[in-house]
Amino acid sequence: RFIVFEGNDGSGKSTQILKVEKYLKEKGYKVVTTREPGGTEIGYRIRKLLLDPAYKMDGLTEALLLAADRNEHVKNVLIPAIEEGYIVLCDRYILSSVVYQGIVRGIGIDNILKLNSIFEEKVKPDLYIVLTVRPEVAINRLKMAGKTDRLDIEDVDFHTKVYNGFKEVSKRFERCVNIETEGTVDEVFEKVCKVIDDLLE
Ligand code: C5P
Repeated sequence: RFIVFEGNDGSGKSTQILKVEKYLKEKGYKVVTTREPGGTEIGYRIRKLLLDPAYKMDGLTEALLLAADRNEHVKNVLIPAIEEGYIVLCDRYILSSVVYQGIVRGIGIDNILKLNSIFEEKVKPDLYIVLTVRPEVAINRLKMAGKTDRLDIEDVDFHTKVYNGFKEVSKRFERCVNIETEGTVDEVFEKVCKVIDDLLE
């Protein structure tokens, strides 16, 4: 099983993934938790480059670097884990590319889907859990957490486009469930668990 968590920065993806990992392990499942970008050694170096505040990067360059990260990840982490019967929980996958580079950076949804079709053919998520939180709340959460990488410090307009982008793709794409995360961590977790339980039933 391959479950992907997507969403805008500050939506609480990482917190929920950790809780889900614990929850599923307690139920006796074998679980691997991983992320994009940065789920492999090469990917980690690509992630550093992508998030370095020293650079202003073209959107297509971003998409290509993310595709390189994804290739390493699909080949070395996702495929082996899925084949060995693990439930794979992945922090971001193709939908993030569709939203950030396709919509927000203006590269176009179709171009991003074309670029990523090679991965989609190899590993298709069983479920995309798209966590979203209003940009105002997201920005506050990022500030509180002291996050200052290249994309966290983007302005409210950027965060609004990302938020709207995730709302739009969760309606448009298959196997997507959108959950708003303005409530408490436990309230959100309850909703997330319900969706996962339905899938694993
Ligand atoms: O959520 P995480 O911290 O892993 O994401 C790292 C950063 O990379 C985020 O700030 C996100 O905005 C950005 N990103 C991106 N395009 C993607 C995936 C992530 O701009 N396709």
